[in-house]
Amino acid sequence: MVRCPECAAEIDVDEDEVEEGEILNCPECESELEVTQVHPVHLILISDDLDDEEESEEADEDDKEGDKEEEEDEEEQVR
Ligand SMILES: [Zn+2]
Repeated sequence: MVRCPECAAEIDVDEDEVEEGEILNCPECESELEVTQVHPVHLILISDDLDDEEESEEADEDDKEGDKEEEEDEEEQVR
């Protein structure tokens, strides 16, 4: 039995059924957990807040085009 590093919920992981590098989802908090070790099973939390190497997308707030949605009345005409 393994515990979720995030919420400490018990996760039923069979070490015969997982592989190193496999990604699991915690049934409780839905965090993504990576199997770093299988004997015994050890999980780490994968956080997408951590950007060790790649800073991929910077917040781009230059995207202010007049984006008004036109209101269309899509009433179906019943004949
Ligand atoms: Zn959890």
